[in-house]
Amino acid sequence: MYKPVEYEADLPEFPTPHPPLPVAGCDDCVRYLAQHAAAERDGDGSRAADVRVLWRSHLARTHGTGAGARTGAAR
Ligand SMILES: [Zn+2]
Repeated sequence: MYKPVEYEADLPEFPTPHPPLPVAGCDDCVRYLAQHAAAERDGDGSRAADVRVLWRSHLARTHGTGAGARTGAAR
């Protein structure tokens, strides 16, 4: 069974403005997720922000869910 990677108290405190949610089955989303996690692990906030921008752009173009990158379904 697939279990998503979870980050518990492992990471130092880091302000994460709700990163996008990966779309299941999308390799690009998985790649963005990994890049974002790596940037956060390095404490590189600006790189994490860059990844989020690119990721949201990808979400908008590929999945049509760009602006609403929040959790919870917008109607
Ligand atoms: Zn995707």
